[in-house]
Order: sequence, then structure tokens, then C-alpha cells
Amino acid sequence: MNFERVKEKLNILADAAKYDVSCSSSGSNRTNKNKGLGNSTVMGICHSYTEDGRCVSLLKILLTNHCIFDCAYCVTRKSNDVQRAAFKIQEVVDLTINFYRRNYIEGLFLSSGIFKSPDYTMERLVAVAKKLREEENFNGYIHLKSIPGASDELMYEAGLYADRLSVNIEIPTISGLKLLAPDKKHEDFLKPMLKVKNEIVRYKSEKKLIRSTPKYAPAGQSTQMIVGATGESDKDIMYSATHFYKNYNMKRVYYSGYVPVADDKRLPAIGTQVPMLRENRLYQTDWLLRFYGFAVNELLNDAHPNLDIEVDPKLSWALRNLNHFPVDINTADKRLLARIPGIGMYSVSKIIKGRKFRKLNWEHLKKMGVALNRAKFFILCDSPNWERRDLDADRIKGMILQNSSGKFRNQYSSQLSLFN
Ligand code: SF4
Repeated sequence: MNFERVKEKLNILADAAKYDVSCSSSGSNRTNKNKGLGNSTVMGICHSYTEDGRCVSLLKILLTNHCIFDCAYCVTRKSNDVQRAAFKIQEVVDLTINFYRRNYIEGLFLSSGIFKSPDYTMERLVAVAKKLREEENFNGYIHLKSIPGASDELMYEAGLYADRLSVNIEIPTISGLKLLAPDKKHEDFLKPMLKVKNEIVRYKSEKKLIRSTPKYAPAGQSTQMIVGATGESDKDIMYSATHFYKNYNMKRVYYSGYVPVADDKRLPAIGTQVPMLRENRLYQTDWLLRFYGFAVNELLNDAHPNLDIEVDPKLSWALRNLNHFPVDINTADKRLLARIPGIGMYSVSKIIKGRKFRKLNWEHLKKMGVALNRAKFFILCDSPNWERRDLDADRIKGMILQNSSGKFRNQYSSQLSLFN
């Protein structure tokens, strides 16, 4: 191996991969067999995240940043004048093994621009995973990016070696995709997703009958949407995410604030602020939909197509629905408790357990981790009522913001206004 050349390629191809946020090693339990290398049982929880929540513990690279397509939002697009490189299959295998042995990484996240054709590229991605598993006996985590338009046969094979597969939908609406990536067809994303979903379901049901059935993409599949490249509302984005969770058994949908990389009048200008706060609000909404029993139309609808950037989506919902409050902590059901701002699911469980033995008051709630600075406006408990019950939504919001130390408090993103 020519180390200098590989190092040069690594610089180019790791840099090009940084725009993809859909890497997370949670959810897999591949065990180490035959004294092989790595163990994703441990790795399932050993990934680390940067401050903004991005995963950093995987070797995250592109196989190549050559691409036959010209998606306007992508730094790898063919019309972009950047230095290009491509790894050989064996180079990626060697890098992964060497980095793993040095304890730099816990696994591999491998994506790619499209060489020649989707199948030609997918075949190479699969070959890397296959070599790692079969020749190097590597049991660490592998996340393969699926190439839109790849054949069912290759998608099937990919799931036999990878822990997680993902096809990035990138632009949340069909019209946005047509505008920015006219080479791509919406069906090219859906077909591989559907194949992976069907195989996961099939393998799971076969495993119930035949215990020796191998695992197929045990950490499931994920996708990523770029936020703020086009004028989609948060409502469009979350309806699209819900569709993928429901119909394609997505493990995760990732939201990635658009980083302006192109001087193109279809896109926000270079230098426009990356909508990190909007991205954060979308993740919070995603969480509320998956774990807190909210429906999309409660949080986002025609009257409120975008999330309130200043406060989290649960607080925003509560402020619009003050008629549901105050909620009595000592009698309310689980569903209603989960809707109180400042109370997470962990605290909900503690409240339900704790109130079996005593009536809960402010002190109990504080010890349970309830954020009383927010919750106090919305609850009753076994303490004297918080003295103010005459406040309207604007006043409550103002008081909460005044006492908030949130790092995003003063960063009001102007991203959405670009499309008004
Ligand atoms: S196909 Fe993928 S890598 Fe190629 S330009 Fe489009 S988004 Fe970028």
C-alpha cells in the first residue's frame, strides 16, 4: 500500500463524507465469533457524538467523490471543481482494520459518489463489507450507504454484511428533488428502501422458525433529509419523515441543516447561516412523535406549518393548548403527563411509581428531574399552587424565555424567511 497516496485520498474522501449525518451505531448486536476482530455489541453504545449530536467514532469516508450526477446541494456533484479521489476496495479494508487495531474507530461508515452506474458503485461497497466480514473476520459495526437505483440483488447482499443500511432521501419533497437533483428519480430511493424493509421482515420471521437464520441488517435502515436547501416547511418535512417511519420501518430519520456549498440561484447563498437550531427543533419533534404519543398534525398543521424556533415543540404545543392545563401530577394518566413541558419520559415513569406511595409535591418533582421552571406553569401537585394562574400564552413564553439559559436562545435562524 502506498501510504502517502492513501493518506491523500483519506483527506479528500473523509472531508467529502462529513456532510452525511446519518451515522449512528445504535441498535445492533452482532457478536464476536471465532476470535474475530471487533464486537458491535459493545460498539452499539460506544459511538460518540460531537456537541451538535453527530457521530464521530466510525471511520466515515466515501469510496469515491467522483459522481455522474449533478445534485445542486452536494459538494460531490460532477460540476463542482474539487479534487477527486477513489479508494480501491482493499485500501478501505486495510484502513478499517488498521484503524480498528489502533483503537481509533469502532466501525465503518461507507458512502460513495456514483461511479459509472448505481450497480457498479453498490457492488464495490458490498465488496468492502464482504471482505471485512469473510476475509478479515471483522465483527465491528458497518454502515453502508445504499446507492439510489441499485438492484434488488445487491441490496439483498448488502444487508447480509452490513449492520445498517441507509438511502438518503436528501430532499423531503418530490418537487424539491426535481428542482435540485433532476438526474434522480424518487422511485430510485424507494425501491432499495422497500427491498431492505421486506428482507428485514422476512429474515425476522424466518428466525422465529429457524434459529440459525443469519441476521439481515440487524441495526435496520435509516435515511437523511437536508433541511433548508429548498423551501419545504417543517410540516412537509415531518409528514415525510412519518411516512418513512411508518411505511419503510425506518430506525432513524436524520435531519441535516443545509451547508451552503454552491453558488446556485436555486439554493440559499454561500455564507447563509446553517439552520442548526431548526435542525435541533426537528429532532425534538421527531422524538415527540416516536416516544411521546404526539401526532404530526398536533404539532404542525396549516395554521402552524413551521416550528417555533424560540421554544421547544412540546412547550409550543402546550402554549397553544392551555385548555388542557393545569394537569394534576398526582392523578393524570401517562399520556397526559408526557405532554407537560419540562417532563421527560424518564420523569413520567418516576412520577407514576412515586405517587403510589405518597402525594407528590414540588420537592419530589425537583428530585425526579422535572424542569420546574417550565412545568410549574402547567401543573398542580401537593404543594400550594404556583401563585399565577392568570397568564396568557405570550406571557408564559416570555417568562420562560427570560429565565432560560439555552444556548440557542438568541440565535433566531433567518433560514425560513429566505423563502418567504
Ligand atoms: S448522486 Fe449523491 S454524491 Fe452524486 S451528486 Fe447526487 S447527492 Fe452527490
